Amino acid sequence: MPERYKNYIRGKWVDGKTAKTFENRNPANHHDLIGLFPDSSAEDVAEAVAAAKKAFPKWRLVPAPKRGEVLYKVGELLRQRKEEIARMMTREMGKILKETRGDVQEGIDTAFYAGGEGRRLFGETTPAELPDKFAMSVRVPVGVCGLITPWNFPMAIPTWKLFPALLCGNTVVLKPAEDTPLTAVKLFEILEQAGIPSGVVNLVHGTGEQAGAALVRHGDVQLISFTGSTAVGREIAAVCGQSLKRVSLEMGGKNAEIVMEDADLNLALEGALWGAFGTTGQRCTATSRLILHREIKKQFTEMLVERAEKIRIGDGLDETVEMGPLINEAARQSVHRYVQIGKQEGARLLIGGTLYEEGQWINGYFYKPTIFDQVTPTMRIAQEEIFGPVLSIIEVKNFEEAIEVLNGTPYGLSSSIYTRDVARAFRAMRDIEAGITYINGPTIGAEVHLPFGGVKETGNGHREAGTTVYDIFSEWKSVYVDYSGKLQKAQIDNAE
Ligand code: NAD
Repeated sequence: MPERYKNYIRGKWVDGKTAKTFENRNPANHHDLIGLFPDSSAEDVAEAVAAAKKAFPKWRLVPAPKRGEVLYKVGELLRQRKEEIARMMTREMGKILKETRGDVQEGIDTAFYAGGEGRRLFGETTPAELPDKFAMSVRVPVGVCGLITPWNFPMAIPTWKLFPALLCGNTVVLKPAEDTPLTAVKLFEILEQAGIPSGVVNLVHGTGEQAGAALVRHGDVQLISFTGSTAVGREIAAVCGQSLKRVSLEMGGKNAEIVMEDADLNLALEGALWGAFGTTGQRCTATSRLILHREIKKQFTEMLVERAEKIRIGDGLDETVEMGPLINEAARQSVHRYVQIGKQEGARLLIGGTLYEEGQWINGYFYKPTIFDQVTPTMRIAQEEIFGPVLSIIEVKNFEEAIEVLNGTPYGLSSSIYTRDVARAFRAMRDIEAGITYINGPTIGAEVHLPFGGVKETGNGHREAGTTVYDIFSEWKSVYVDYSGKLQKAQIDNAE
């Protein structure tokens, strides 16, 4: 019998209100059934929101340094269980162990960063314009926060939202992705063990259409923080717009690496391989386009193809494997459809473009590293997010064209340029339209103490991580203390 997992509401592990469940299977071997999870309904969501609402008045009054101390404990417990969780995560979503360890590490880093913020959470003091009057601004919590997360960073992304939300004094309901519910269970076991009071954190499994949508629509949820596709983010923004609910959105990307003629080609090659095929191309910051200066294009393409062909595909639990499977069959079909579109558009397929079904891998959702040459900037494979191991090479004649091509998509998440020319590097930092720019580094590799997010259709103006995430999860309140003992009128009493 497969293990049946539960929701976590009001400090208890509970079944869904209906008996309906969904399966969680290993994408490297779909015969491996990991467990069954509640396919939660709007009633389950309502119960979790009610628990969070009830817990809010007390949690908001716990001093922020104390809330931070709980997060230190959470970070310590995550550290102790890092290897166990990383292994479980690889089984659940396929990326290789090195990367799932990194994913848990991001949660640990975020716990300690947020824990430290408990003794900062700075506001401002500033002189008042009237005598005997004191002026300051402070942060206050928002209330009940609904968190909706994708499957590609099953620990990092929930913790990016949850820890700052808790530190600011909010209570939360998390709806994790259907493909990675077990990582969320492990996180909540740790939150429980760290002693977070009942109702402050709640976990509801289920589909986006049912449980996710119910969370977005619930009248007692003051904030939705969503990471996922631009299509879903747009729908969520529309619903939140109607009720004027605060909403932060982290969405898709179509990231590019530029390699100029003066670049260190070996370095740029390592960056392109890691950026394009790490996490099987399923990162919001994955390198999906490679913009090559025409002088080095032929040489660099040969170097790239030679290495990409040798990438070892397989089960991420094998330490020698370099690339795991795609998340599910629908994702594999979607990637494969894009490959057909690329061929029809006239791009030249250099390698890959087929499912990988050799030997035991017939039971997983594997796909070969795929590289297209002769891609033009307006082709669909150069414009739309593919979310798989597919890299499109675009040739350019100079720096200006490289920047224009890089900027020429609806997205604006991550970007990278390899050059030894410092002036070009600074021009790129200035002119690239993206939330993140790497100089001589791949498009992936964000650190948790810097703002993370994108421009254009990647986001709606917020930034997670860094100090900026605290602007999402707190409201600013301006406070004036008048100790003059008389009515003083700003803009009037001291006017000329
Ligand atoms: P997705 O949009 O399909 O799902 C994300 C989450 O939203 C899931 O939990 C899902 O159940 C839920 N959801 C789906 N429909 C919903 C609805 N109508 N109402 C409420 N919730 C709903 O995305 P995915 O396939 O899980 O993840 C891949 C996408 O996420 C890619 O586009 C990727 O670029 C993006 N992503 C972005 C970032 C970032 O920080 N910018 C990070 C990781 C992933």
